[in-house]
Amino acid sequence: MSAAGEQALRSGIVATARAMNAAGINRGRSGNVSARLRHEAFDGFLITPTGFRYDAMGDDDLVVVARDGTATGPHLPSSEWRFHRDIYRARPEVGAIVHTHAPFATTLACLDRGIPPFHYMIARAGGRDIRCAPYATFGTQELSDHAVRALDGRRACLLAHHGMIAVGASLESALELAVEVETLAEMYWRALQVGEPVLLSDREMDVVMRKFDTYGQLRPAT
Ligand SMILES: [Zn+2]
Repeated sequence: MSAAGEQALRSGIVATARAMNAAGINRGRSGNVSARLRHEAFDGFLITPTGFRYDAMGDDDLVVVARDGTATGPHLPSSEWRFHRDIYRARPEVGAIVHTHAPFATTLACLDRGIPPFHYMIARAGGRDIRCAPYATFGTQELSDHAVRALDGRRACLLAHHGMIAVGASLESALELAVEVETLAEMYWRALQVGEPVLLSDREMDVVMRKFDTYGQLRPAT
């Protein structure tokens, strides 16, 4: 990646962090955003710093984290850098990660509930449901292990009593999916107020996943 490429990635991360708050899927200083950074001999990622207001954050405030966890930059990396690192390690197709405490997704996560296939757009997250990873203290390896497992075969998951993670080939696709997951969480929550939502069958969900695949909407940009 060229210096200009890295600069564009930095600007993209700052824009994405601000956009997630503007979209109402994150509030205050919680949440974080990262993008994979590949130089010739380096495989790591750029991530938002810990405890920073996004409107006050500039491109130079981001932190570089290497594959071994070594951080370089003017600030400490987000306290959740471990699950970012482990997702990039486990998922070579992932180019960007958005983590938010989106209100509706987090409400469901506080009930230890994932999102079942009540709506066909659940397939946008890569499978027949959106799982909820078990609770573990923020910033720990245990939480990271739970997150990687909940994301297996998926592009999004909830984190019990915490929030959600959405991944994508690019910052744009990760943010778009995070907004979609929050929209689905809100619709599921609303449906639960009225009754027990009726779920789509595995067969119907498989049809939708094949259709999405045909449209090329789910393929990582290479
Ligand atoms: Zn968090």
